[in-house]
Amino acid sequence: MDKTDILSLTFEELEEKITALGEKKFRAKQIYEWLHTQRVKEFSEMTNLSAQFRERLNENFYINSLKIKKRLVSNIDNTVKYLYGLRDGESVESVLMEYKHANSLCISTQVGCKMGCRFCASTIAGWSRNLEPSEMLSQIYETERDSGRHVGSIVLMGIGEPLDNFDNVVKFLKILNSGGEGLSLRHLSLSTCGLVDRIYDLAQLKLGITLSVSLHAATDEKRSAIMPVNRQYDLSQLMKACDDYFAATGRRISFEYSLIEGVNDDDKSADELISLLGGKNCHVNLIPINEVKERDFRKSRSVEHFRKRLEAAGLNATVRRTLGADISAACGQLRREEKANG
Ligand code: SAH
Repeated sequence: MDKTDILSLTFEELEEKITALGEKKFRAKQIYEWLHTQRVKEFSEMTNLSAQFRERLNENFYINSLKIKKRLVSNIDNTVKYLYGLRDGESVESVLMEYKHANSLCISTQVGCKMGCRFCASTIAGWSRNLEPSEMLSQIYETERDSGRHVGSIVLMGIGEPLDNFDNVVKFLKILNSGGEGLSLRHLSLSTCGLVDRIYDLAQLKLGITLSVSLHAATDEKRSAIMPVNRQYDLSQLMKACDDYFAATGRRISFEYSLIEGVNDDDKSADELISLLGGKNCHVNLIPINEVKERDFRKSRSVEHFRKRLEAAGLNATVRRTLGADISAACGQLRREEKANG
């Protein structure tokens, strides 16, 4: 019989499995605490359970955890970039960033990505599979363990499209919310390229998370040229879903706009963005694009000018600080290099 990935079980699921083994319900609580608060890696470490029961757990379950394959530490600002190895030999990336109020961790949700955004490195090495909830949790647990730093906020902005792995991501969020530290989902942002149907589903769950939408262009023509997903869900459908998300959750949307020289950084593009978002209760996050070796997109030189134009029109816009410039490797690059070096 295949063993069950115990770290991917919600508390309710664990309770069910443990009682099915003929054990008392409260044992599930003890085990959940060992897994998500103490974060042990072996059943033998669960010392308040009998040796016999620990052995049975070992026969039925395994505790998934990731191995650090590479660690890059910035000398400028304490940013740490991890390449994590998974059980099947695949790898994903996480980035730990230091902000004034807390450490923030950017985690991956899939091995690779299918979305094909033209400027993004994650898509170059292709898509292999979805990450399990345990593999998303383990990015947090291993990063905290290795760095000795507490992660206060989490962004699902690493490799992959979180809404293309909807069920596992939702399960991950539920476990995170009920786990050891009960990390509030208010400090979690999920970034999507715009899978409209799933945005409606997410709104229904009312998890209290922040939704970030990768916009990068404000007309269908420009957006479809750099983001293939726009051909499936156009801007009018996307904006309607965003309005619905705000109405259902009361959480304002954060729109990401990566500025690319000569593609989306001129005054006309700014005005198109103003007419798309004007009057909405939202926030615009301007990102100087990370140049990716394989792509010929260049960083815009008019980031501040663009921001000012939005601001003058009453849009709430900030420029994202560049962190870890010396270990830059835009998201997805470490994994791709690793694959290329085989
Ligand atoms: N698939 C999700 C989350 C992962 S990407 C999404 O599309 O939102 C996280 C953010 O980084 C997205 O806004 C994405 O468009 C942006 N991004 C990807 N490649 C980039 C690059 N080279 N420079 C700047 N931002 C990039």
